[in-house]
Amino acid sequence: MEGKYYENPFCDYAPNKEKTVKEDGELHGEFVENIKSVSVTLFQKLNSSLGEMGKDDYSVYTGTSGIAFLYFLMAMKLKKPEYYKKSLKILENTFPRLKNRRVSFLTGDSGPLALGSVMYDRLGMPEESLRCAHRVKEILPTIVSLNSDLPDEILYGRAGYLYSLLFMNKYVGAGTIENSVIKEVVTAILASGKNRAIREKRKVPLMYMWHEKYYLGAAHGISGILFLLLQAREYISQSDLQNAVRPTIDFVQDLCFPSGNFPSSLGNSNDRLVQWCHGAPGMVDLFTLAYHVFRDDRYMQTAIHCGNVVWNNGILTKSYGICHGVAGNAYTFLTLYKSTKNPLHLHRACKFAEWCTSYGKYQSRVPDRPLSLFEGLAGVVYFLTDIQDPEHALFPAYGL
Ligand SMILES: [Zn+2]
Repeated sequence: MEGKYYENPFCDYAPNKEKTVKEDGELHGEFVENIKSVSVTLFQKLNSSLGEMGKDDYSVYTGTSGIAFLYFLMAMKLKKPEYYKKSLKILENTFPRLKNRRVSFLTGDSGPLALGSVMYDRLGMPEESLRCAHRVKEILPTIVSLNSDLPDEILYGRAGYLYSLLFMNKYVGAGTIENSVIKEVVTAILASGKNRAIREKRKVPLMYMWHEKYYLGAAHGISGILFLLLQAREYISQSDLQNAVRPTIDFVQDLCFPSGNFPSSLGNSNDRLVQWCHGAPGMVDLFTLAYHVFRDDRYMQTAIHCGNVVWNNGILTKSYGICHGVAGNAYTFLTLYKSTKNPLHLHRACKFAEWCTSYGKYQSRVPDRPLSLFEGLAGVVYFLTDIQDPEHALFPAYGL
């Protein structure tokens, strides 16, 4: 992994030693003040550069809707309702540009529409909110058809569409998307995985492919799909949960490298990438949730190993961002902290946040979309805002 990450310069957690987390788990006032002031400066920098952001990319991932997502988070966390309006303004510019080409929350039409549905609801416009939800449901026939080459992964596929549905039901309210609709999507994802596994005579019950490879990570791979399925478990039968989802989680777990990291795809023996999209950082959500659902301690052990890998090898040289950078990797610790309440993990997240306060300084290349939510500055502001309320922090467009 040489050259991919900086040696971690920070001390690990020792009670009362570092000014990050108090013993009761509360963040240190000085730390919060520092993070607040840096995030305000970075947010100003982002705002003053937004004119440079191309309007051709409307995605949440690298385009204008990602900025709308950031405003949504800031409206909630900083209790600034005027940001809902700012978010909506961006989204309303987006709606006429939607091209019906992609389906997922991160790169497709369902992301801006789901966000729009939430923003209209927050601003007291229920009819417009429902109209957005309806437009998302119009994509359903494309999703449930298994005769197309639509993938199942998060970034472009069915699991990324499922996120949009769950997102609206969480933030607009249960029933915004009917249970029957969510069930259809979940059933299609399971059927697609079963079909491939049977066709290829696999021992594992579910198998998924993207671009001719069996990816394992969060963005394109099996673990991201399984994480979305587990979050939608109330729509899955006990039999599928126990006999299809769980054995596939076990299959992924067995692919763990001795280091605690994971390969980016099946058959790839390079222990190289430690980032949300490929490797341990995106896996931690799956294994912590698997622990809570199935109450098997081995899942938690795997999750904790993911945390150690990220602590040692997760200060990446290439980016500060969410998808394959330090801010995204820091969510590994926030997930572990929320699950275990062990201040060690929160301390680690704080230290990665401290690293992010040097934004731009230690970065070997400029991202293609330097202002965006998943590759650039907006993502760092998102993380620095989110960590101030660690109990409720969530990796954007992934956790619910
Ligand atoms: Zn990435």
